[in-house]
Amino acid sequence: MVSTVLVVDDDRGLRETLRALLELEGYEVALAGDGLDALRALEGLSPDAILLDLMMPRMNGEEFVQELSRRGRRAEFPIIILSADTRARQTADQVGARACLPKPFDVDDLLNQLERAVTQ
Ligand SMILES: [Mg+2]
Repeated sequence: MVSTVLVVDDDRGLRETLRALLELEGYEVALAGDGLDALRALEGLSPDAILLDLMMPRMNGEEFVQELSRRGRRAEFPIIILSADTRARQTADQVGARACLPKPFDVDDLLNQLERAVTQ
């Protein structure tokens, strides 16, 4: 069965890179440019995992997860944080992320963590 991943990042180049990479790996990919876009995307989509940037305009990654919780939907989605923020690990723990990968990320690491997240 095909797994769907929602990629949330304000870096358009990175979004497109991740889309190409993940589609090559057989994932269906949806993109969002910040937390607000992601919330809107989730109105019509139930991804198997979310790849989440932290530093984004309008609604950052942490605020996005808080809003998911407020809406009672946090438990639906495994979240993998992808961030250059030095405090990303701490934030990832706070929001109950499955994994936290630095930027630039290691492709094999990302694919391994993602596969683990969607098969659990
Ligand atoms: Mg960012």
